[in-house]
Amino acid sequence: MFRSATIRLTVLYVAILAVICLFFSVNLYRVSTNELDRGLGRQMMMFQQNPQFQNFFGDDYAQSRDDQLSEARRHIIINLVDVDILILVIGGIGCYFLARRTLKPIQEAHDAQVRFTADASHELRTPLAAMKAEIEVALRDPKFDKKEAKGLLESNLEELDKLTVLSNDLLSLARNGEKGEIVLVDLSTVIGGAMQNTKTSADTKKITLNASPTNLKVLGDAQGLTQLLTVLVDNAIKYSEPSTTVTLKAAKRDDEVLLSVTDQGIGIDPGDLSRIFDRFYRADSSRSKQDSAGYGLGLSIAKKIAESNYALITVKSKKGAGSNFTVRLKSA
Ligand code: ADP
Repeated sequence: MFRSATIRLTVLYVAILAVICLFFSVNLYRVSTNELDRGLGRQMMMFQQNPQFQNFFGDDYAQSRDDQLSEARRHIIINLVDVDILILVIGGIGCYFLARRTLKPIQEAHDAQVRFTADASHELRTPLAAMKAEIEVALRDPKFDKKEAKGLLESNLEELDKLTVLSNDLLSLARNGEKGEIVLVDLSTVIGGAMQNTKTSADTKKITLNASPTNLKVLGDAQGLTQLLTVLVDNAIKYSEPSTTVTLKAAKRDDEVLLSVTDQGIGIDPGDLSRIFDRFYRADSSRSKQDSAGYGLGLSIAKKIAESNYALITVKSKKGAGSNFTVRLKSA
């Protein structure tokens, strides 16, 4: 698809180049032949005014002047055609590379979109396939009783919950392309919101959420920042052992405010660190953990929100010794 688009764009560029060449060549030809006409015309005048020349060259002079003129015109045309062909050949190669360069970002975006759609459909298919298989087995079983039906419904409900999480995450990813309104945001509201959102999962694992009070203010979109911090705190809880502590801190440094989430969890392998912000990426250690349900979309949502808030997320982690995610925000 992109090969033929590159060729079509190259042809278009070459056509533009050819029109420009034609325009300049025609004008150059006109100017040069006018100059020639004028030069040879002056010679003719001198010839007519000077009887010595007329005796020497005879009547052939006028004929030879016309021959000279048409010969010169022919040379100009040949030279112009040669130069034009050279420009079109060299320019054509240049146009091909220019077309490839022009289409490269579009191709990358297209490839990313295809990859994303394939990953999303794969993730959607897994719970659907599990539900379908369970229902089919149940329908084939003549002794299927009420108790088993209840078990089946509970299992289906679990799969439906996963699908809801996935569709919410996909929706968040799509929405976070739109920038929220950047206003003055009180960080205590953001921290309070994230703690409220993650309280139930922290309580379930008996994890202590530790946050010191702050009166720092930043420039950003309050709702987006709360969602971003919720992702980080939620991950800190998911990837920590029960009865540990997750610490939230806000500190001012120069014209930035650093908002950090530190856990005492499983940590991240150095090889995974550069990929955890990719869509659908999950480190093997987290896939194998039963209670850490997820689709590898949380951090890509967080990254998108950070970008629309002119913020940056950095991560430091040591396998088995916990992780620290820091969001660098614009101070108000
Ligand atoms: P999810 O948590 O749904 O898998 P995320 O995009 O939020 O997706 O995270 C991507 C991966 O990064 C996780 O699967 C996990 O391997 C790793 N990760 C993120 N946060 C932490 C953390 N606090 N501790 C350890 N690993 C983490």
